[in-house]
Amino acid sequence: MTIFFKQDPVIQCVCRYDTFVIMYPDTYKELGFSINQKAHLELNGVDLTTIITNDRPVYVVNELLIRQHLHVYRQTFQKFYPKSTSIFYASKAFLNLGMANIVQQEAVGLDVCSEGELFIAKLAGISGQNILMHGNNKSRTELQAALDAKIYAIVIDSVSEFDLLESLSFTNRASVMLRVNPIIDVDTHPAMATGIYKSKFGLPLDDNRTTDLIMRMSKSTNVFFKGIHFHIGSQILNLKAYTEAIDAVIRYLSLLQKQGITIDTLDIGGGLGVDEQESTIKTIERFSKHVCSEIIERCRQYEVPLPKLAIEPGRSVVSQAGCTLYRIGHVKESDGLTFLAVHGGMSDNMRVALYQIKYNACVANKMNQAPIKNYKVVGNCCESGDILIENIFLPECKSGDVLVVFNTGAYSHSMVNQYNKHAMPGVVFMKNNDYVWTTKPQKLEDLVQYDTQLQ
Ligand code: PLP
Repeated sequence: MTIFFKQDPVIQCVCRYDTFVIMYPDTYKELGFSINQKAHLELNGVDLTTIITNDRPVYVVNELLIRQHLHVYRQTFQKFYPKSTSIFYASKAFLNLGMANIVQQEAVGLDVCSEGELFIAKLAGISGQNILMHGNNKSRTELQAALDAKIYAIVIDSVSEFDLLESLSFTNRASVMLRVNPIIDVDTHPAMATGIYKSKFGLPLDDNRTTDLIMRMSKSTNVFFKGIHFHIGSQILNLKAYTEAIDAVIRYLSLLQKQGITIDTLDIGGGLGVDEQESTIKTIERFSKHVCSEIIERCRQYEVPLPKLAIEPGRSVVSQAGCTLYRIGHVKESDGLTFLAVHGGMSDNMRVALYQIKYNACVANKMNQAPIKNYKVVGNCCESGDILIENIFLPECKSGDVLVVFNTGAYSHSMVNQYNKHAMPGVVFMKNNDYVWTTKPQKLEDLVQYDTQLQ
């Protein structure tokens, strides 16, 4: 059976593009993919063409890989950091009840940034002590819900948010952290950079009001000031940005120390990127080693006691563990392009429109056919920007074929919408030769579930 990889010299010479491939060979196997006798793509031993039963897309999640990523995070931080490390999976990357169950079973925490995410965490039985709350505009209701759930920490984003928190009624002392902005350049899409000048998130390190707020927090009888948080952005592969942020923040901790404040925990946020050329396991190992040694070194240099560590990985936990299945509809030649339209698009994956993400894909039912034709893969939403893949070589496609788009585990399901009243797709979790629907696909009636007809 022929499997076409990026390195394949024949294909490279035929197409002279690098967008047609299935995937890099090592990565492909490590992610759980294989090809069966019918030349269909399988994930964890399940034929992906059997999952898609109608014209709606399906989010497919490799449950085993998510568990493995969480395990590697726990293991590597334990190995490289001498003090305790808490891992809070950033639920904004992908959350349904099944995912919250995995978080709970794998004994890591959950980072939530809304009442909805907190609700799901509690429903899945995650204890308050394993929940961290973010958000740049927490409401009274959200702050109260966080207090009631006695969570690990509320990460405060502004002075007025802390004022609001202090105005609530406390039955116990609540732990708080402050989100600071180290103001550094990050090598990522501008929409994914959060630790930059004029960011809406956190308080800048070079502003006296930041220190004033920390003073207030540490003197408050309602709260325990646990420490400092920063999150510099997402899809970051150049670790230099972490080096700079860690340096800036630990230098700041040494200034705080001079004012009598030492922190219990430093939370370095999430942000680690996913490189489709290698398995995320290797990326996580490199990242853990790098940030741990940078923190240890800077604390030594600035004579700051080593704090406990918290991290909030999202994308790196779930991205490579997810792929989306699409039924191919009409194929149209127009203006020198061949449009391949799928039943899905920006309603189930906003990332191409938002961040111009480049996806890789293959045809699940034609794994023995050479990718000989160039397509522009578009969705079925009434928007010109509804493009899934700008330019990709695939085998000759026809209506009914199943397109698999890789690396969609992060920030696609979590941004799902009902534009054009497309019912939301379901989510399937794959184990060994087995799968389960952890979110059912919506039915048409669900589209009007909360509507009332006018008389
Ligand atoms: N923590 C915070 C505060 C975030 O805003 C985000 C994402 O934007 C994350 C963690 C997770 O980032 P990533 O998915 O890039 O790991």
